[in-house]
Amino acid sequence: MTDRNQELFDRAKQFIPGGVNSPVRAFRAVGGTPRFVQRAQGAYFWDANGQRYIDYIGSWGPMILGHGHPAVLEAVQQAARDGFSFGAPTEREVELAEEIIRLVPSIEMVRLVSSGTEAGMSAIRLARGATGRKKIIKFEGCYHGHADALLVKAGSGLATFGNPTSAGVPPEVVQHTLVLEYNNLQQLEAAFAEHGADIACLMIEPIAGNMNFVRASVPFIRRCRELCSQHGALLAFDEVMTGFRVALGGAQSLYAQAIPGFEPDITVLGKVIGGGMPLAAFGAKRAVMEQLAPLGAVYQAGTLSGNPVATACGLATLREIQKPGFFEALSQRTQSLIQGLTQAAQEAGVALCGDSQGGMFGFFLMEELPQNYASVMRTDAQRFNRFFHGMLARGIYFAPALYEAGFVSAAHSEDDIAATVAAAREVLAELR
Ligand code: PLP
Repeated sequence: MTDRNQELFDRAKQFIPGGVNSPVRAFRAVGGTPRFVQRAQGAYFWDANGQRYIDYIGSWGPMILGHGHPAVLEAVQQAARDGFSFGAPTEREVELAEEIIRLVPSIEMVRLVSSGTEAGMSAIRLARGATGRKKIIKFEGCYHGHADALLVKAGSGLATFGNPTSAGVPPEVVQHTLVLEYNNLQQLEAAFAEHGADIACLMIEPIAGNMNFVRASVPFIRRCRELCSQHGALLAFDEVMTGFRVALGGAQSLYAQAIPGFEPDITVLGKVIGGGMPLAAFGAKRAVMEQLAPLGAVYQAGTLSGNPVATACGLATLREIQKPGFFEALSQRTQSLIQGLTQAAQEAGVALCGDSQGGMFGFFLMEELPQNYASVMRTDAQRFNRFFHGMLARGIYFAPALYEAGFVSAAHSEDDIAATVAAAREVLAELR
């Protein structure tokens, strides 16, 4: 049988760098042929060979309802009939802004953009404009999109200014980006002690999904909040992945349960708010947001910002996830996946640990959950790759890289989870 995935990949490689429009899709970490998706429905997609997969990526987070949810499809079809894009305001944008503000109390005003990268980049500009300061703090292993200032590798040891992670980013452009180890209180204290008066903003993924799944500890987030407040820096939560995914109010609502009165100053959103369409946002208190053009001096704009079809898709998605019991059911399903994998690994005598929150999860082929990027990177990549390919061959599509989180949708059934765990039992037995 001809392999249509391979044929398409060979064709794509002639015209698209690496054959893909975003690097992780190329399977470079795990090897093999990327699956070209033909169509998707519910918890499944079918590749170009007609093979079905249980999808644990869900477009890297947005598809919280699964693929082709009827209410979302209906809203998108209606919006498309009304017109694709106008470059003028629409009622749906106002509705979506109101909905976001209602669900995330730390946000008083919000601006819609088209990607998480744009949202993160604009949030940094806003923080610098609002504080009149230059320096930003980010953490090793956190990804905030591919804007120059945020594409920075961490130094080892004590806090160091980072070097660019990508060619094409001049060192001068990242000279104000300070990179610290995630969950490292000493480095955090030292950075503020030395640079506090110059720090515009600290940006963090509160549950980091770009080094698999690593939680920021409660004491760490508490100290981030205290130090930002003491030094007049803005605390920016990048909830592109966790927003409307780990809980209805995002990760910040979970930290607020442990830290009374807790709020970040700026929130960056993406993925679920677009329901699979290009839509993202950043929001903050009114006084900060009013620094943006056309009111203030911080410029930010977009031809397709607040796109009517994307906005309709996002709104319909947000309405579904507010239905009673939605997050309870999603969390329960995600937990049963992690419990099933852990148990299968125990039976097979293979080290595996995992964690989840809402519909987001991670697992590691190691004994203990890592606390930072360096410990995530100690995972045995070869073993992960064997696990990934074993599962793929059995119709289970996990992220094709060990440093990515996974996602369960409301469309995943108990049977899907059971089939996944049964496949894992076979694959883990081979890993022993
Ligand atoms: N921030 C986080 C936490 C992300 O996970 C991502 C993408 O995966 C981004 C920002 C960038 O979003 P986008 O890919 O929409 O530009």
